[in-house]
Amino acid sequence: MRWVGHGVVFVLLTLLTQLGGLAWLGALAFRRRFPAFAGLYAVVFLAAHLLAPTYGRVALPCFGDALRSQSPAYCLMMRNFVVPELRHVAQDTAQNANAAFPGTVTLTLDGGFPFWDEFPMLPHLSHDDGEKLDLAFYYQRDGEYLPGTTRSPIGFWAFELTGPDACPPAFPTMRWGMSWIQPLLRDLRFEPERTAHVIRVLSADPRVGKIFVEPELVTAMSVQHEKVRFQGCRAARHDDHIHFQLK
Ligand SMILES: [Zn+2]
Repeated sequence: MRWVGHGVVFVLLTLLTQLGGLAWLGALAFRRRFPAFAGLYAVVFLAAHLLAPTYGRVALPCFGDALRSQSPAYCLMMRNFVVPELRHVAQDTAQNANAAFPGTVTLTLDGGFPFWDEFPMLPHLSHDDGEKLDLAFYYQRDGEYLPGTTRSPIGFWAFELTGPDACPPAFPTMRWGMSWIQPLLRDLRFEPERTAHVIRVLSADPRVGKIFVEPELVTAMSVQHEKVRFQGCRAARHDDHIHFQLK
């Protein structure tokens, strides 16, 4: 029975962090399991940063003025790895936003894991090759932009559209309502100017292939472009973040 429990922890850590499950397996050899896990996780974490570039993935910045991870948790879980070209696009886009609106901080959410294409990154259907990245929306309070702040504590799931869903109910679907998180959301407003600016910058970037934003928001922000698409009714909602991917 104990091994079933360890199996569950291994699977969960693997799904969440890709390599954390290996650290857990290693820690089973030690009597003081949790300190051993922390130590081994640190080793795996460092090894990923050293080795991933050889296999074509680099880490997005965890800290920084114009571009950084929404929370250090994305870095800690090694969900901030992308191909070098995508990191360039993210840096250029963030710098552009910061130049157009000084003081703007662009926040990254899920990118990809350090190794292996086609390794699933739940709950996403497509973040499996380092060529996809989610950016947080920008937010304001009382008409004033709040740098580096999101409505949701994790950046995702603070949905802007409150009307009836354009998609019919389906199963299976990743189009979750996430109503349980709504009480945890901060009392902030969506900031359409910066969000629209970044969508336009990404649309004009020849390295970018597709951008996913919910159609109602695309219309509201007037950011129509051939690259700005609807992700489909079975994929996650995109009225809480911007998804973009390389060509
Ligand atoms: Zn995405």
